Amino acid sequence: MRQIDHFIVGGSGGAASRLSDVFDPNNGGVQAQVALGDAAVLERAVAAAQKAQPGWAAMNPQRRARVMFEFKSLIEKNMDELAHMLSAEHGKVIADSKGDIQRGLEVVEFCCGLPHVLKGEYTHGAGPGIDVYSMRQPIGIGAGITPFNFPAMIPLWMGAVATSVGNAFILKPSERDPTVPVRLAELFLEAGMPEGIFQVVHGDKEMVDLILDHPAIGAVSFVGSSDIAQYVYSRGVAAGKRIQAMGGAKNHGIVMPDADLDQVVGDLCGAAFGSAGERCMALPVVVPVGEDTAERLKAKLIPAIEALKIGISTDPDAQYGPVVTAMHKANIERWIQTAVDEGSELVIDGRGYTLQGHEEGYFVGPTLLDHVTTDMTSYHNEIFGPVLQIVRAKDFEEALSLPSKHQYGNGVAIFTRNGHAAREFAARVNVGMVGINVPIPVPVAYHSFGGWKRSGFGDTDQYGMDGIAFWTKKKKITARWPDGSVDGGNAFIIPTMG
Ligand code: NAD
Repeated sequence: MRQIDHFIVGGSGGAASRLSDVFDPNNGGVQAQVALGDAAVLERAVAAAQKAQPGWAAMNPQRRARVMFEFKSLIEKNMDELAHMLSAEHGKVIADSKGDIQRGLEVVEFCCGLPHVLKGEYTHGAGPGIDVYSMRQPIGIGAGITPFNFPAMIPLWMGAVATSVGNAFILKPSERDPTVPVRLAELFLEAGMPEGIFQVVHGDKEMVDLILDHPAIGAVSFVGSSDIAQYVYSRGVAAGKRIQAMGGAKNHGIVMPDADLDQVVGDLCGAAFGSAGERCMALPVVVPVGEDTAERLKAKLIPAIEALKIGISTDPDAQYGPVVTAMHKANIERWIQTAVDEGSELVIDGRGYTLQGHEEGYFVGPTLLDHVTTDMTSYHNEIFGPVLQIVRAKDFEEALSLPSKHQYGNGVAIFTRNGHAAREFAARVNVGMVGINVPIPVPVAYHSFGGWKRSGFGDTDQYGMDGIAFWTKKKKITARWPDGSVDGGNAFIIPTMG
C-alpha cells in the first residue's frame, strides 16, 4: 500500500512507528497510509529549519519574491495533477479542488509583492538629530496546523506568507488528505526555495503537542474545529508563542422580503451543498425574514435541491461529491436524526444515499430542515455536511440577532435590494466576515480572513497585512547622529522630544 512520508531534509529516516489510514471517499476503503511523526521527526525538521533560516532571511526580499513567482508558475503548470490528487483524498469535485488551489495561489501572488509590504516606517527629525524607524523581521521558525477541508489553500495562506517574509515553516497538515501538502513542498523546492524552509511533518495530537511545546518554534497558526483551536491557543500561549487559531463556524444567510429569490436559491444551493457542506464559509443556516418570505423561499428551494447532482469527484457534471470519511458521514446522519428528534421538520432527507457503482462511497444526499429553532443543539453545533437548516425570523431585528448571538462568528450573508438594510446589517452584526448578496464572503488575498467569537482565537487574521504582522516582529529603532551642537540634556531623566 502507498505510504505518505514526511517532507523533511534528510528524508523520513526509516519506518514510521505509527500509521494512519487515508480513505478513498469515492469508493470507500483505504487507499494509502500516512506516517505519524514523533519527537525525533520534529527534531530533525527543526534542526534543518534552524540551519536554513538565517541565510533565507538574509536574502534580499526581491529574491525571495522571485521564488514565489516561480512557485506560482509551477502550481499553474501542475494544476490538473494537484486537483486530481486533492479530489481523490478529500472527495470534492475537480472544479472545486481547482478553486481550493486557486485561492491559495492568490496568496502566493500577494507574496510576490513582498518587498513593498515589508517596507518599514520612518520619521526624520523626531527630535534634535533623531530619526525613528521600524523594520519587520521574521520570527525564525513558524509552524502551521491545518484542517482536511482545504488541503491546498490553507497551507498556502500560512506557508506562503511565513516563508516569503524570511521564516522557515513547518506544516502539520491534516492526516485525512496529506498528499497535496507534500506535493506543494516539492514544488517550493523546485521553485528555488532552499531545503529546510518549507517542510511537512505528518501526525495527530501527539505531533501538535510537540510543536506547541517546542522552544525553537516561535509562532503557530492553526485552522480547524473550535475546541481544538481553543486548546492550541491556550497551550501555545502558555508556552510563550505567538498563536492564531481559527475555529469552526455556523454561518447564516439572511433573506430579506425584497431579495431576488431566484438568485438566492442558486447562491444557497452552492454555499450550503458545494463541497458537501465541508467549508468553514458554507451557509448551513438560512433565515428568511417574515412568513411570506419563508414560504416563497421554501417553495423554490425544494425543487432546486432535489435537482442537485451528486457524483464521484471526477464526474464533470457533479455539483458535489462524497464527504471525507465514513465516520464523518455517520456523524452528519446522526445530526440529522438529532434535528428531527428536537422537533425540526425534515423536508428533504439525505440519509442512506447511495451512488450506483460507488455503493461504498461516503455520499450524503442534500438535506433540508425547516422550523429549526434556537433552543436546538442541531442549530448551535456545526454539522459540516450537506444540510441546510431554515430558521424563520419575524423581522430584521430578530434576523440580525441570530448570527450575532450564535457561539460562532465566522461568516454571514444578507440578501436584499435595500441598501440601507444591508449597510445597517453589516455595521451591527457580531460576525467577522459579511457578504452583501455574496454567499461566501472569503476576502481576497490582499485583505485578510478571520472570524470572531469561537471561530477565531488570537488577534490577527490569516494572510493580507495581518498575515505579514503575524509572521514578523516589528523592531523600532531610535537613532541619533550628533554633530556636537545639540545639548544632550540631563541623562538622568527619561528622554523626551520636547
Ligand atoms: P480538526 O480540528 O479535527 O483538525 C484540525 C487539525 O488539528 C488537524 O491537523 C488535526 O490533525 C489536528 N488535531 C485533531 N485532533 C487534535 C487534538 N485532539 N489535539 C490537537 N490537534 C488535533 O478539523 P478538521 O475536521 O480537519 O476540519 C474541519 C474543521 O475546521 C471545521 O470545524 C471547520 O469549520 C474548521 N475550519 C475552519 C476554518 C476557519 O478559517 N475558521 C477554515 C477551514 C476549516
